Amino acid sequence: ATQFGIKEALTQLGIQEINEGTSTGINNFSSGEILESFSPVDGALIAKVTTTSAADYEKVMQAATEAFKVFRLIPAPKRGEIVRQFGEKLRQNKEALGKLVSYEMGKSLQEGYGEVQEMIDICDFAVGLSRQLHGLTMHSERPNHRMYEQYHPLGVVGIISAFNFPVAVWSWNAALALVCGDVCVWKPSEKTPLCGIACQNILAQVLQENKLPEGISCLITGDYTMGELMTNDGRIPLISATGSTRMGKIVAQTVAARLGKSLLELGGNNAIIVTPDADIKMTVIGAVFGAVGTAGQRCTSTRRLIIHENIYDKVAAALVAAYQQLRIGNPLDENNHVGPLIDADAVEKYNKALERAVAEGGKILVNGDVFSGEDYESGCYVKPAIVEAENSFEIVQCETFAPILYLLKYSGTVENAIAIQNNVVQGLSSAIMTNNLREAELFLSTAGSDCGIANVNIGTSGAEIGGAFGGEKETGGGRESGSDAWKVYMRRQTNTINYGSTLPLAQGIKFDL
Ligand code: NAD
Repeated sequence: ATQFGIKEALTQLGIQEINEGTSTGINNFSSGEILESFSPVDGALIAKVTTTSAADYEKVMQAATEAFKVFRLIPAPKRGEIVRQFGEKLRQNKEALGKLVSYEMGKSLQEGYGEVQEMIDICDFAVGLSRQLHGLTMHSERPNHRMYEQYHPLGVVGIISAFNFPVAVWSWNAALALVCGDVCVWKPSEKTPLCGIACQNILAQVLQENKLPEGISCLITGDYTMGELMTNDGRIPLISATGSTRMGKIVAQTVAARLGKSLLELGGNNAIIVTPDADIKMTVIGAVFGAVGTAGQRCTSTRRLIIHENIYDKVAAALVAAYQQLRIGNPLDENNHVGPLIDADAVEKYNKALERAVAEGGKILVNGDVFSGEDYESGCYVKPAIVEAENSFEIVQCETFAPILYLLKYSGTVENAIAIQNNVVQGLSSAIMTNNLREAELFLSTAGSDCGIANVNIGTSGAEIGGAFGGEKETGGGRESGSDAWKVYMRRQTNTINYGSTLPLAQGIKFDL
């Protein structure tokens, strides 16, 4: 870590040996248990965090509720200016924050920087959006009447996020919520609390410089019990939760029981269909990056390749050859392709998944392995594996958050491949590799992919912030980031104004007194 300048990065981001993991825009107050953050890169203890207690949570919610009363009155373009300044601060801290993401989460340095770039991009998007929170106007059926709709801020937005995008997912939510006039309470993953503290420090500086109330952006740290306080809290009209489908099912029910809104971004089981008309070179690059990038720990990671039988052997051989080139090791070293899994638990799940795939009749094409010894002290480094399998295998139906790629064979027309692709409970990302227009268009049609993301001639991972991001079925149905995703952070109001001197009723109803 020393040679990669981690210490300097931590100092720049205001991370100390012991940190307060509960804060509003300006104040820190934590009195919960100590949470230790270990790096999966080298197994070292990075820092300790004093987490949020139930009493601290109450203080945060009070600060957030009060801050909302002030923040909602600030015109949207002025709120956009705050987000613009936040984007500028992120630019200044890109290198340091990118390094921390890489060191605490374990993704490659380039991906760490990429995540911070995504934060900058969503800030830019949100600044423009702050002048475009449009409603519609309608023609009234009554004379001398005007009708329109407008969007108002919602209130406190609760953000619960996963470890694998420890900074970007929060910013997708926070940048939009802030221009929409909401205040945010964020609970980052307990596996990446320092990334949360670093982001909060950066945004808090901006709030402080603008003399804005504390509580516009709040951070709470801890495990799922903190998340439960939020999902049960009637003061939080919207819970945006990113993580496993298991978590999403609990969150959805809790929030629905109090008729709150939830925005769910849950697990995927993403596939690439490879037809006889595919460009094999592009397919191999897209599939390998999709399967091993972030060590298979993206919600959009490629888990399944559905390959036509006529080209199956050729594609499989090309993939096996490509996997031999992969360099697994310290993600801060830019020569490596694949970094570690997040923790020992994830390594165990990887091992179990490979065992189960074989037990169900799968054939290993590229062996898995867990690395040990020098440079692999954390015990979290695993070898990306390829298994020939059937879509019906139980293990293929599950999302295993690790670099395991299942090869599935199809015969006949692309309809058969689409049926296999859709035959899982998740519906996040999908792709087809083909130069055949009919196949590509069918894949994108109503009879095609049932996922929230469907791509042609690119892989399943690596979304841009301009589009709405999310998936169907057990992925949860939420949409974040670009397009009109902002609408979920606001409440819609329909207004009818009578500027005449009589009171005609709608639908021609007469009510004379
Ligand atoms: P996880 O579900 O274990 O945890 C996610 C967050 O939810 C954490 O902050 C955790 O503390 C909290 N949580 C857990 N149980 C809760 C409960 N009952 N109530 C309230 N909060 C609770 O997920 P993870 O291991 O951190 O992340 C990996 C998962 O996230 C994968 O399934 C991945 O596909 C998914 N993910 C999805 C997207 C997306 O946009 N669709 C993006 C990133 C990750």
